[in-house]
Amino acid sequence: MLHPTPAGLFCPIGRFHVDPVRPVERALITHGHSDHARAGHGRVLATRQTLDIMRIRYGEDFCQSEQAAAFGDEIEVDGVKVSFHPAGHVLGSAQIALEKDGLRIVVSGDYKRGVDPTCAPFEPVACDVFITEATFGLPVFHHPDPKHEIGKLLTSLKQFPERSHLIGAYALGKAQRVIRLIRDCGYDEPIFIHGALARLCDYYTSQGIELGDIRPATLEKKDPNAFKGAVVVGPPSAFQDRWARRFNEPLIAFASGWMMVRQRAKQGGVELPLVISDHCDWPELLETIGEIAPSEVWVTHGREEALVRWCELKNIPARPLHLVGYEDEGD
Ligand SMILES: [Zn+2]
Repeated sequence: MLHPTPAGLFCPIGRFHVDPVRPVERALITHGHSDHARAGHGRVLATRQTLDIMRIRYGEDFCQSEQAAAFGDEIEVDGVKVSFHPAGHVLGSAQIALEKDGLRIVVSGDYKRGVDPTCAPFEPVACDVFITEATFGLPVFHHPDPKHEIGKLLTSLKQFPERSHLIGAYALGKAQRVIRLIRDCGYDEPIFIHGALARLCDYYTSQGIELGDIRPATLEKKDPNAFKGAVVVGPPSAFQDRWARRFNEPLIAFASGWMMVRQRAKQGGVELPLVISDHCDWPELLETIGEIAPSEVWVTHGREEALVRWCELKNIPARPLHLVGYEDEGD
């Protein structure tokens, strides 16, 4: 029913790919991150929000035709029953369940279990084969409470009231989640955003995700005092170029699950690492597999070996798929 190919997971019965990394005739897409949702497919089946996000990122002609799937609806694709279920990863993100002759496979895409008010929470779906990522699939990965991480930012703002606090966060999902977390921690000053985030922040707001007073981080003329003590959110790449030089004594923060790895923070010149991830950490991966209790586990990408080994120790047959092309835009 489903097997790995160079273009991604392929279902020969339904003649479709899931999250293909190359243009295909028919694609089912779990979520809008650029490594899962690419432009140039023929027909695309995804949630309304994922389709909207693809249109925002790639333009009107991102595919030839689209079909929106509502969570829980059953859709027939060439004899395969397909349904979408919340994945808790970013706005619109879904797990895709495929069913044929009593066999059910769930492709979870990217997912997390932690609380995130910017998207619908992960829903465990009973299945025979559970396909999971393993981005943080090692026992060392244990993500702290994101509000505790935001607390570090608020403390730093008090300690260094002159400095502009620049937070690197990926444009889809992480940026909006960080802004929302800052609001939920009681900060209601304006938050300034890089232009690359504007349309996605507007879209989140249009979908009922309150982000408070957000303003463009642009200057009429060069004034180093303009963003004194301000919070500025931008894509991580922006802090390496000229854009960042307009700010007063910038303090670089980065919101990512990878900030658990001290070396990564150091290499990126990150002064304030914020461990905020949109993926499962190791305990969440184990909890999810335990809860779903599938008869088999396939691991798509990330640190596959440790998770496969853990499953085998629990007598759950498991195999790594070694899918390539998923570079984790979201973390
Ligand atoms: Zn993702």
